[in-house]
Amino acid sequence: MSVRAGREFLAIPGPTTVPDEVLRAMHRPAVDIYSGPLLALTDGLLRDVARVFDTKGRTYIYISNGHGAWEASLTNVLSKGDRILVLESGRFAVGWGDGARRMGVEVEILNGDMRRAVRPAEVEARLKADRKSNAGGTFKAVLVAQVDTASGVVNDIEAIGQAIRAAGHDALLMVDAVASLGCMPFHMDAWGVDVAMSGSQKGLMAPPGLGFVAANDRARQAHKNAGLRTPYWDWTEREGDQHYQKYAGTPPEHLLFGLRQALDLLFEEGLENVFQRHRLLAEAVRRAVGMWAEGQAIGFNIIEPSERCDTVTTVLMNGGDPEAFRAYCNRKCGVILGHGIGELSGKAFRVAHMGHVNAPMILGTLGVIEMALAALEIPHGKGGAQAAIDWLGQQVKA
Ligand SMILES: *Cc1c(COP(=O)(O)O)cnc(C)c1O
Repeated sequence: MSVRAGREFLAIPGPTTVPDEVLRAMHRPAVDIYSGPLLALTDGLLRDVARVFDTKGRTYIYISNGHGAWEASLTNVLSKGDRILVLESGRFAVGWGDGARRMGVEVEILNGDMRRAVRPAEVEARLKADRKSNAGGTFKAVLVAQVDTASGVVNDIEAIGQAIRAAGHDALLMVDAVASLGCMPFHMDAWGVDVAMSGSQKGLMAPPGLGFVAANDRARQAHKNAGLRTPYWDWTEREGDQHYQKYAGTPPEHLLFGLRQALDLLFEEGLENVFQRHRLLAEAVRRAVGMWAEGQAIGFNIIEPSERCDTVTTVLMNGGDPEAFRAYCNRKCGVILGHGIGELSGKAFRVAHMGHVNAPMILGTLGVIEMALAALEIPHGKGGAQAAIDWLGQQVKA
C-alpha cells in the first residue's frame, strides 16, 4: 500500500522544483538570434545576474551546469603551474580544486572536515605563512564554497575575504555560490569576492543548463595573462559586440526565457523576503531535526548551529539504513530526499529547502519524514513536525 499520487515533492539539493510560471515561459517558439527581443533579453539577464551576485563586475552566462561554470572561472584567471589554496568544508570546493589540478594547477587543500565551516583564522595564518616565501604570496587564488551541499555548512565569505586582506595576500577570492545564490545573502563586491559562480537549477529555480560567472576588475586583470583560456569559456570572446559572442554560439533561448521569468519571480517577491522565507523554512526543518535527534539515532551533521545553512540540511542516521528510509519516502509518499554523498554516503540523508519552496512543501516533507521514521522503527524523538509547525506559527503572525 502507498499514499503516493499526483506531484512529487522534490526535496533534493538540485535540481529543484521549477515554478509553473517558469515552465510556461519556456513553452514558445524559437526566435531569431541576430535581431529582435532576444538581444535586449540578454542585456537584461546579464545585468540582473549581476544584481543577484550584488556586483558591479561583469557577468557571463554559459550553456553549462555548475561544473562548467567551475571550469569557466578557473580557465579565465589561471595558468598551468599556478598555485591555489582550496578551503575544505565538505565536497564541493575540493571538487572544484580537483578540476583545477587536472588542468595542471598546483592545488593545496586547507584541511577542514565534513562537520564544520572553514575557520577564517586558519586561512589568515596559512596565507601569512605563504607570504614569508614571497611578498605577494605564492597562491594565485583561494577557492571556497559558500554553502557546501554535501555537509550542509555555510561558510562566512565576508570573514574569509577579511582574512585574505588581513594577511596582506594578493590571491583572488573565488566563491562557489551554486547552492546559495538567490536563497541567502551574497554581496560579491562588499565581501571582496573577485570571482563568483553559480548555476540555474538550485536557488534560481530554472532548469539545469545555465552556468553563471561574475568577475570584478582584479579578476579581469588576471584574465589578461591567464594561460588556461579556451575559446568557449573565454571572457574576452564573450565581451565582443556581437550578440552571438555572448554565448560563443547559439544562445540557449528557452533556458533564457525561463531564467527571465525565474528572476522576475525573485525580484517581485523581493530578495530580502526570499532570504527571510528561506531562513524561516530552514529553521522549521532544524526544529524538527532537533526533536527527532532526541531518539539518538539521527542528528545534525553540522555540529555548530550557526554554521548550518538555510538551503539544505544534512541529517546523519546512526541506526537504520538511510537508503531504505529514502526509498520509503519516495515510493510510499512521493517525497524525494537527497542522499548522503562523499564520506556521508550510506550514513545520511539530506533535506533541501532551496528555491521554489513554501510552508506546505516543507511541512509536508517533514510530516513524511516523521511518518517514515515511525514506519521503519528508527528511534527518534517525537513531535518534530509539530515543533516546526509551532515555530513557524510563532514567526508568521496574522
Ligand atoms: C550542485 C553543486 C555544484 C555542481 O553543480 P552541477 O550543476 O551539478 O555541475 C557545485 N557546487 C555546489 C556547492 C553545488 O551544490
